[in-house]
Amino acid sequence: MALSHIVGYPRIGQRRELKRATEAYWDDAVSRADLEATGATLRLEAWQRMRDAGIDLIPSNTFSFYDQVLDTTAMVGAVPARYQQPDDEPVDLDTYFAMARGAQSDGLDVTAMEMTKWFDTNYHYIVPELGPDTRFRLASTKPVDEYLEARAAGIETVPVLVGPVSYLLLGKNHDDPDFDALTLLPSLLQVYLEVLGRLRDAGARWVQFDEPALVLDRTDGELEALTTAYEALSNAAGETQIIIETYFGDVDEAFHTLAALPVAAIGLDLHRGKRNLELLRRHGLRGKYLVAGLVDGRNVWINDLDASLGLLGELRALVGADRLIVSSSCSLMHTPIELGRENRLDPELRSWLAFANQKVDEVAALATGLDDREAIADVLGANRAALHSRRVSPRTNDPAVDARVRATTEADYRRPGSVEARRESQRSVLRLPAFPTTTIGSFPQTPELREARASHNAGELDDAGYEAVMESEIERVIRLQEEIGLDVLVHGEPERNDMVEYFGEQLNGFAFTRFGWVQSFGTRYVKPPIVFGDVSRPGPMTVRWSQYAQSLTQHPVKGMLTGPVTILNWSFIRDDQPRSETCRQIALAIRDEVVDLEAANIRVIQIDEPALREGLPLRRKDWTGYLAWAVPCFRLSASGVRDETQIHTHMCYADFNDIIEAISDLDADVISIENSRSDAELLEAFRAFRYDKEIGPGVYDIHSPRVPPADEMTSHLQEATAVLDPRLVWVNPDCGLKTRRYDETVPALEHMVAAARAMRGEPAPVTS
Ligand code: GLN
Ligand code: ZN
Repeated sequence: MALSHIVGYPRIGQRRELKRATEAYWDDAVSRADLEATGATLRLEAWQRMRDAGIDLIPSNTFSFYDQVLDTTAMVGAVPARYQQPDDEPVDLDTYFAMARGAQSDGLDVTAMEMTKWFDTNYHYIVPELGPDTRFRLASTKPVDEYLEARAAGIETVPVLVGPVSYLLLGKNHDDPDFDALTLLPSLLQVYLEVLGRLRDAGARWVQFDEPALVLDRTDGELEALTTAYEALSNAAGETQIIIETYFGDVDEAFHTLAALPVAAIGLDLHRGKRNLELLRRHGLRGKYLVAGLVDGRNVWINDLDASLGLLGELRALVGADRLIVSSSCSLMHTPIELGRENRLDPELRSWLAFANQKVDEVAALATGLDDREAIADVLGANRAALHSRRVSPRTNDPAVDARVRATTEADYRRPGSVEARRESQRSVLRLPAFPTTTIGSFPQTPELREARASHNAGELDDAGYEAVMESEIERVIRLQEEIGLDVLVHGEPERNDMVEYFGEQLNGFAFTRFGWVQSFGTRYVKPPIVFGDVSRPGPMTVRWSQYAQSLTQHPVKGMLTGPVTILNWSFIRDDQPRSETCRQIALAIRDEVVDLEAANIRVIQIDEPALREGLPLRRKDWTGYLAWAVPCFRLSASGVRDETQIHTHMCYADFNDIIEAISDLDADVISIENSRSDAELLEAFRAFRYDKEIGPGVYDIHSPRVPPADEMTSHLQEATAVLDPRLVWVNPDCGLKTRRYDETVPALEHMVAAARAMRGEPAPVTS
């Protein structure tokens, strides 16, 4: 009979218990013992849930107080020197949190380690700092402790480790970007061998090493390192069987290396990894167990169980009946935990969804059903009915939306006038000074605003009362910007909880969960919207606020929208049509809003696309395919306006070199970008490309409370104009101000305006 297996399980708790306990610990409101107890409870609940579902191979060590990569850094003792970790002691929990978030207390003032996105998910991991001086040693026995903890509770588990090759490849050397971390493999392996030896001695039957780095483009040298690592580990494994687990896509050129390794099992993502299946069909797996990742761990839809059983039948013939393990496509930490709590979701829609616990049940059902369909007859019946209702539901299919997408023509994807023609008409309408100043959209979200939103949602504050609060906030923000002397004003986005949720809530085809939290990083969790049906816009979403703001001032007020690609990338999207199709529908909805803003006399409109870059496929060869629809979708949203309407876009990243052509192709009149590190290389990419539209390289970092002096911003601008045509340069911060306080924001913006004036050669204003 096929075995069942889960790659990993959410750690945050159905009620966000981990967040509460961790933040309380940081605030000194609960003891370390309390926090540890919460962790133990969450672990036990997870193991029990999987055991009760009938899962054979239950993961342990997928719990974490912050991040599994940071756990690995602690395990191998790769603590950077600034945390003053004694060489002969285990890594303490407070040191662990200091690495994650920095620390400022009695004599200690240390910055956090860098955090970055985990492959193409919205999860962020703490980047290992590796260099020639890195010394590894066993400094945390967490994997062994948790294995024993589960066993003491009567549950046999599979300890999961971040594999040594992926660990090194995920690291960084800040002093020398060319440092080859794989030179550290021999010494790192010593620690892994020690951990594996302890797990072996403790009686672990299986140990899982996650090697997701194999779904990225890899060199021969990197694949050789894989062989070195797993030959050494398998030599030391004894009776313990090794699983190498991959996820998030195809292993491509790594397949043959993996198939030749002396390990027991290989995990492949067969949901997203379409080429993985071809490789298996062609080459088999040389007598190894196949961990078949069929149940999608990245999205919230039910599995098509009949189709999966069909595929499993084929796989069984390929690898042998006693060598097949049914699994999730990746860790379930990327989905919410329990669907059963979503009592406000429409029941029909809910029948189409599966969160982590439901996915666990699907995996178990598939393993059982492969040999005995009768045993899961009820499950199959319900699954078929739900899939059918989803396929034919009028909620998912709106013929009018489909017809509209079909009816778009080339012309809908292009502004009528050339860049120069547009610039000329915009200049005559807007009459802005050189080095125009603006912000990215949001102003600080005050406690009063959050409170007003909450009591409006709870029905305590009526619509009129809520609107009055928003209008007075908008007026305050407009007056403030006038006083500061900004040129293009914003309404401040006080009405928005989240830049995607705000739009999703007003569009057809979107649903929202009450408890569907997913960890983004540390104690920050997000609740992504679910796009279940064809998307359209029933009515204007932002016009009234922008119009109100514009009515208060002579300065142009910038309308503020989230772009289609960002809405797509930050939601759970439907899997029954291509992403490009969903994106086009969203683009048309945003286009309607853009056109309405123009009709309401808004002359500058910004369409934010901070997630355009992170949507890039993991493998380079797939980039063109993605950009070929993502970029046109942006243009579709932006092209319904006249030449004199100025379209802005904004992106919060600084890495443009490899996609500059796509950025230019967006054809936005103005782009504001992150550049607070005043990176000459970044601007050089624009220059070398002969980028011909206007650019606002962020002149200060809004992620820090620090208020930079005006001359610091002036010198940023001077650096920018040394590379870029000064007539095309805007002056703005890095990103939105919503997480800052007013006492930081006001002086920073005043300095920014002073810097712009200095660039124009205007005398500095007399300040009090
Ligand atoms: N307009 C948004 C804001 O100012 C942009 C946020 C973002 O880029 N992530 O908050
Ligand atoms: Zn931003």
